[in-house]
Amino acid sequence: MTQAKDIDLALDREGTHGLGAELTFAGALSFLRRPYTKDVRGFDVVVSGVPFDCAVTNRPGCRFGPRAIRAASTTLAWSGGAWPHEGDPFEVLKVADYGDCHIDVGAPAEIAHAIETHARNLIAAGPSLLTLGGDHFISYPLLKAHAAKYGPLALVQFDAHSDTWREEGRRIDHGTMFFHALEEGLIDPAHSVQVAIRSGNPESHGMTIIDANWVHENGPAATIARILEVVGDARAYLSFDIDCLDPAFAPGTGTPVCGGLSSWQARSILQGLGDIDFVGMDLVEVSPPYDHAEITALAAATIALDYLTLLARRKMRAAA
Ligand code: MN
Ligand code: MN
Repeated sequence: MTQAKDIDLALDREGTHGLGAELTFAGALSFLRRPYTKDVRGFDVVVSGVPFDCAVTNRPGCRFGPRAIRAASTTLAWSGGAWPHEGDPFEVLKVADYGDCHIDVGAPAEIAHAIETHARNLIAAGPSLLTLGGDHFISYPLLKAHAAKYGPLALVQFDAHSDTWREEGRRIDHGTMFFHALEEGLIDPAHSVQVAIRSGNPESHGMTIIDANWVHENGPAATIARILEVVGDARAYLSFDIDCLDPAFAPGTGTPVCGGLSSWQARSILQGLGDIDFVGMDLVEVSPPYDHAEITALAAATIALDYLTLLARRKMRAAA
């Protein structure tokens, strides 16, 4: 018998663990139906949106990303976990949805600081952070917050673009924020890797580049091995720009580039990175106004769930 309690588990879930069964097309839209809370103490991971898209160089719209990814995640939030993973990651991993970072569009000069403060406060309370963007600029304040807690981090970046183009002075956008992050010592380039790149940049800044053609020619297993070799035991931050996927698999993004990964390639690679010590992730550049049939939002929600599954398995291994 269906009960009133079988809807809106984000608001009145009994306990913090487990998936559930509720209407995929209705109800409170937390990410993967996780409990909404402003008190994140005691959780392993907190999910938060950063609905900012004022640093794009082409198509805008990813301020609507967090909402669309949450909506697409409802079809992944059923009991039983997500294929091909066995079991329910949320029996192991306590995950909450904090809601979104406040963006004051009337004070644009203060937005980077607001995002950094938002992230600092959340990770200071204990959990690691999974951020739904937003354009890729947001990784800059997010990395600042994470580097303040952990020191310089190995960057594992999935992207069509390097986002490390050299800047003179302080200007910064979603194609240059990693240049500034490198300059400021937030990233440890020797243990950092960029995957699925298909745009030119005369400078690698010491990071390893695995371009999209290399992935196509060598396959996910070889790509996983190369990433693990570069990152090693370093603490890492995962920055997943949805435009690493081919436009066929992620049409809803700001700067699509042909020749990218399929969603299965990206999932296969990510699922092989369980040995990496990830301290945080962002998933950026989902632009729902350019999406079709929720293709891009669903890919984003699935990749984010794959990441949470990696963390759940890691937690299980640590407890064993
Ligand atoms: Mn990109
Ligand atoms: Mn990017």
